[in-house]
Amino acid sequence: MSKGRIFSGMRPTGKLHIGHLSVIENWVRLQEEYQCFFAPVDWHALTTGYEDTAGIKEDTREMVIDWLSAGLDPEKSTIFVQSHVKEHAELHLLLSMTTPLSWLERCPTYKEQLQQLGAGRDIRTYGFLGYPVLMAADILVYRADTVPVGEDQLPHLELAREIVRRFNHLYDSQVFPEPQPKLAKISMLPGIDKRKMSKSYDNDIAISSNAEELWEKVRLMITDPARVRKTDPGDPEVCVVHTYNKIYNDEEVEERIAQCRTAGIGCINCKRRLADKMIESLNPIWERRAQLENNPGIVEEILTAGADKARKQAAETLRVVREVMNIG
Ligand code: SF4
Repeated sequence: MSKGRIFSGMRPTGKLHIGHLSVIENWVRLQEEYQCFFAPVDWHALTTGYEDTAGIKEDTREMVIDWLSAGLDPEKSTIFVQSHVKEHAELHLLLSMTTPLSWLERCPTYKEQLQQLGAGRDIRTYGFLGYPVLMAADILVYRADTVPVGEDQLPHLELAREIVRRFNHLYDSQVFPEPQPKLAKISMLPGIDKRKMSKSYDNDIAISSNAEELWEKVRLMITDPARVRKTDPGDPEVCVVHTYNKIYNDEEVEERIAQCRTAGIGCINCKRRLADKMIESLNPIWERRAQLENNPGIVEEILTAGADKARKQAAETLRVVREVMNIG
């Protein structure tokens, strides 16, 4: 039986933080079961960041190094940069012809993002309105039948499915499968200050931090504010360290809860133990990152080979699409 096919992408944001690890770990699992295409979607970065493009190439490279360090395997998955496979753009153009404007304007994330991201920059552009069509093209150019998504991305996938139905109906074809969502179990790690983890809040822990940098961040984690002295009992449920313990120090979490509630451990000591566990868990990733950094050409080689492989699949899809549309 042939394997299902997956496409998934990430906007290049440079070095990733440990909150992204659960997404990549999910991809690492999927590459065992599916034929996977993973891409930094650099054209998507332009939909909101077209004014300052100076860092895109470096951000793309750093992100791919994090992917590879965290276990994505170019022998198992096709890893490439979106803009290196121009067929994404051609399919985006063709799907733009068939997608009603009203579908894009009613997309729930459109107005929301206009408000959130619009402050100080003009994102009322053609490209920004149409980015769900580009997203659909990214998936459909590989005729992927499965897309790993979080709940928040479901509306975009539903739009991609509508685009498929309309295209297949208009051209009386079955060129595209309707991609199905594969809801991912993603653990949401908070930032060290309890807010959403984000580089822009400076509350993140980069996957590539070294042991000292990691300790500096763990040391600053927000604990139970009511625990003023070491002799005061604490409440782990309100403490960021406890949330991290559940992920990185599962085997000691019950002991730590009991110690916290009876003032049997100081917060610095509790944080140090967490940091040691995190270092233990991140060490293999750091080792792979060091190997990749010592071989600067290897990432380019992987991305070039990935783009060649992706292009073959994408070109075949476009051949069929042009044929049913009677163009080219
Ligand atoms: Fe948090 Fe640990 Fe301090 Fe309890 S002892 S408040 S879990 S850091």
